[in-house]
Amino acid sequence: MQVMESPAGVREAVRSWRAGGARVAFVPTMGNLHDGHMALVQAALERAERVVVSIFVNPLQFGPNEDLDRYPRTLEADMQRLRSAGVDLLFVPQEASLYPQGRDAVTRISVPKLADELCGASRPGHFSGVATVVAKLFNIVDPDCSLFGEKDYQQLLVIRRMAHDLDFATEVVGIPTVREADGLAMSSRNGYLTAEERARAPVLYQALSQAVQQLEAGARDFAAIETQGAQALRAAGLQPEYFSVRDADTLLPAAQGRAWRVLAAARLGSTRLIDNLPAGA
Ligand code: AMP
Repeated sequence: MQVMESPAGVREAVRSWRAGGARVAFVPTMGNLHDGHMALVQAALERAERVVVSIFVNPLQFGPNEDLDRYPRTLEADMQRLRSAGVDLLFVPQEASLYPQGRDAVTRISVPKLADELCGASRPGHFSGVATVVAKLFNIVDPDCSLFGEKDYQQLLVIRRMAHDLDFATEVVGIPTVREADGLAMSSRNGYLTAEERARAPVLYQALSQAVQQLEAGARDFAAIETQGAQALRAAGLQPEYFSVRDADTLLPAAQGRAWRVLAAARLGSTRLIDNLPAGA
């Protein structure tokens, strides 16, 4: 596995693979890799002859009071996992090479409406930060396909919309959420949980599952399902930010006869957890 810091080096490597006819798949991450990330890597290996992974803790997508400084950085262990999985190239850019004029001076991409809902409402600028770095990475790597987790469902839709609107050629592929045995979605942020919080965290998945069961059983009072879900979180000592049944394609409020997504975000102590499940058509 080649490890590169330089965008120009990555461009050159990918160009030569493509000239040889290889398909290239790309998995952007912030590192601290777990089995959820590795599912994306596996899917990438199945879809292409060459796989590029990036690790970059993108400051643009963190708010001023968020966890940028304490975000876990485990590069040595990550490199080992990626190397044994058979990844061809790991891109680990320095902040200065992606944002040479500084974080506040970079041209930014905003995805209207879709990025303002749900997590976008409580994390202003977050999805613009994500869309901007992903657009830059797409331009550097120029992948045939790129893989994103459904764990961050709104992010997946934002990236898909951006790629479509700005005519990126890459196919944006969504990969189902990988969970712990008790249902908790794997996340680098789970490491922030105390043992006692970790024991309570699966209630997020349980409340979402309960909402899906109600919908599948024919319940259509979306507001009641949302209130009940938020209450289940509160009863377990979580502070819900939102618990919402949405249209699976647009994230607009749920309507009859369409596929839905039930999404929730909640604080557990100092940790912010998000998760979601599909439901309906
Ligand atoms: P992150 O390192 O948190 O930015 O995540 C990098 C990619 O891995 C994103 O596309 C995430 O949606 C995806 N991802 C994170 N956790 C999971 C999970 N539990 N299952 C599947 N994909 C995940």
